[in-house]
Amino acid sequence: MRNRQWLLARRPDGLCVPDDFLYRDEPYAAPDLREGEILIRNLAFLCAPTIRNWMDESTGNFMPSIALGEPVRDPSAARVIASANPDFPAGSRVCTIANWQDFEVVAPTRALIRPIPDGFSFIDALGPVGMNALTAYFGLIEIGKPKTGETLLVSGAAGSVGSVAAQIGKILGCRVIGIAGGTDKCTWLVEQGCVDQCIDYKCDDIAQQIAALCPQGVDIYFDNVGGAMLQAAVDNMARHGRVVLCGQISGYNDGATENRLGNLMRLVYGSIRMEGFLASNFIAQFPEAMSRLARWIEEGRLLHREDVRAGIEVLPMSLNALFDGSNQGTLIVQISDDASQSA
Ligand code: NAP
Repeated sequence: MRNRQWLLARRPDGLCVPDDFLYRDEPYAAPDLREGEILIRNLAFLCAPTIRNWMDESTGNFMPSIALGEPVRDPSAARVIASANPDFPAGSRVCTIANWQDFEVVAPTRALIRPIPDGFSFIDALGPVGMNALTAYFGLIEIGKPKTGETLLVSGAAGSVGSVAAQIGKILGCRVIGIAGGTDKCTWLVEQGCVDQCIDYKCDDIAQQIAALCPQGVDIYFDNVGGAMLQAAVDNMARHGRVVLCGQISGYNDGATENRLGNLMRLVYGSIRMEGFLASNFIAQFPEAMSRLARWIEEGRLLHREDVRAGIEVLPMSLNALFDGSNQGTLIVQISDDASQSA
């Protein structure tokens, strides 16, 4: 067996460049497993914006910085190839937080290891029923607490988390306004029925458009972007509105300097709640959420698009697509053809 890896060679300054990473391809000898451990073969990785934060010096992240010289940490879908853990026998399939490499031993205490349900491929497990879909589900339902007839505004609406949050909002009876970059994404969102209307932040004045499309104010703002977009939403929130802080992608490449917020007395006067969350806060509810998501997909009420790229060699530079907006849905890199297997 050989183990291919991408190591973090230095901390990126802005968008990642090839010299930030080091490729290694070495023979791999499977180690003896201690009780509870499993040996996995990673088949596909989710390109998640938060990886870019993990590459920086720690800034109060929920996980430590990736150490220089170590493989880059990333959520993966994997096959268990040897096991000393009865919960995850050899041959079973899991999602976990792994690293950019073929093989690794996962300790039993490792958070966020969960089985992939039968009938779903490794790609599905990172896409339609993956962490991003769960993030949208819990962020909107548990933090946003939508009610029928309310106005929901979603930024990053054509993306992985955003498109699911918008559609769940529709399913639950909200009027949904999306914000996305460019005509193609906005047209796609409206034509597919993911949103009722869409603001193209690359052309439109966001604050003006929000005010025009939401004359009674925004009841729920699901924020994936932060910065000026969050400010424009705060300025247009309705009384008793909820701001769901899911992510702040506009600041991930510049140390979040863009994300200074003003006019916070609006939250006081409007009795508005602003709350951050992590999908992992809701682990106990994952099975129920996954079966609801799967049912909506089966009923044709929740569509999902994946942008799957192939080959371990494209991993590091694929991440930039999240920041230049060239990803068309959930960005996944499969490093083995076996990633499409659903059992
Ligand atoms: P994604 O939305 O599929 O892709 C990122 C999108 O962000 C891009 O396609 C781009 O869309 C938009 N974007 C990038 N830079 C931007 C900027 N400066 N201004 C406006 N839009 C920008 O990515 P994702 O994986 O679903 O992540 C979305 C957000 O959810 C991120 O903030 C991420 O950190 C967060 N997240 C949070 C949790 C949690 O547990 N809280 C879990 C997963 C993800 P356009 O083409 O429209 O610009």
